[in-house]
Amino acid sequence: MSDTNLGVAGGDTTSHVDRLPRRIDLHTHSTASDGLYTPAELVRMASTAGLDLIALTDHDSTAGIDEAHATGAGLGVSVVAGIEINTDLPSGGVAHVLGYHLDWRHDAFQGALEELRAARERRAIRMVEKLNQVGLDITWARVRALAQGAVGRPHIAQALIEKGRATSVSDAFDRWLSKGRPGFVPRVRVLPEDAVRLIRGARGVPSLAHPAYIQTLEDDLLPRLVAAGLLGLETYYGEYPPETVERLKGLADRHGLIPTGGSDYHGPGLHPTPLGGRFVPPEVAERLGQAAEELRQAPAPGFALELPEEE
Ligand SMILES: [Zn+2]
Ligand SMILES: [Zn+2]
Repeated sequence: MSDTNLGVAGGDTTSHVDRLPRRIDLHTHSTASDGLYTPAELVRMASTAGLDLIALTDHDSTAGIDEAHATGAGLGVSVVAGIEINTDLPSGGVAHVLGYHLDWRHDAFQGALEELRAARERRAIRMVEKLNQVGLDITWARVRALAQGAVGRPHIAQALIEKGRATSVSDAFDRWLSKGRPGFVPRVRVLPEDAVRLIRGARGVPSLAHPAYIQTLEDDLLPRLVAAGLLGLETYYGEYPPETVERLKGLADRHGLIPTGGSDYHGPGLHPTPLGGRFVPPEVAERLGQAAEELRQAPAPGFALELPEEE
């Protein structure tokens, strides 16, 4: 299997990786969200791939961190406690915000995550209900079972495929789940600023994930997020070509942000870049650690997540 081959994703990565003492991947997912491998399996694979540091960044959940830490301790793989929070842009798109070195056991932080997950679950339940109303016989129990962690539209799509109501995930979205289709329910809106503040509230270091194709990035979003406390910009991401990495590195430098990066590994077949397959300069991990240390010196800013009413 190619998952554990370092550097296969891009021709520019292998030679660098081979020369450097530390190999890192700051963006990975486990079964605590939508990854295919358990946190322990993921850390074992990281060890096999020769990585010495990974960040576990599951969507809206820190449930995998203890297990990843325990496995990492035995294998000499450092695991940074991380998260990836899905947010909505006012313009209609989405933005994901990564958080690193979190005080993840913090009650207010866990409470906010729980609220987020509950709101997303309510949305999925209502989508199933709407589809039932137009005569589709999928069940919430089946959708819930298909999602090992956070439930979302892809799991409803899978249930529809099982029942022969769609031929693929994109077909399910086109026919049933996209805006304007019979099963659509608007999501709870979480602004990226809120995610940044939430992460800072848990003394974490926030970084904007895979930002290259966000239209409003340079003129609008980035200045607003920096004002809200953003400290990083994901630059060395998955399959971004060199010119994109260059552009993002320039942006990060201009705003004094840490250029984070990683594979966004979810498991085979789900994402093109293998675990550890994107070169990330090791000093990025050092800078993240230093930033976290500085945040730890100051009291954490309080923050309570307020989710606007679902329509
Ligand atoms: Zn993401
Ligand atoms: Zn991700």
